[in-house]
Amino acid sequence: MNDTTGLPPRQRLAIKSRETAREIVEDLDGRDECLSCGYTGYIEVHHIDGDWLNNHPLNLAPLCRACHHDAHRTERAVERIQEMKEDFKQLTEADA
Ligand SMILES: [Zn+2]
Ligand SMILES: [Zn+2]
Repeated sequence: MNDTTGLPPRQRLAIKSRETAREIVEDLDGRDECLSCGYTGYIEVHHIDGDWLNNHPLNLAPLCRACHHDAHRTERAVERIQEMKEDFKQLTEADA
């Protein structure tokens, strides 16, 4: 367990939000798999709208390091992830 008491409030909030996001993504997906390329391994949580306090499941995308890097670097990649998130939403709704 990390001791975050010495950190500034904003940083504590960021850490907490990231932990919550990861839990939500794990619940949502149940797999550690990159939404973009299908890589299974170390997965990061990307906030699609760029707001790391918005932990709505549809704002979260599990991405590998490389795809996450791309998501922050190019507009096109951000669009692609949004499209995939729509597909993903339809898949999860079809499952339910
Ligand atoms: Zn990937
Ligand atoms: Zn991100």
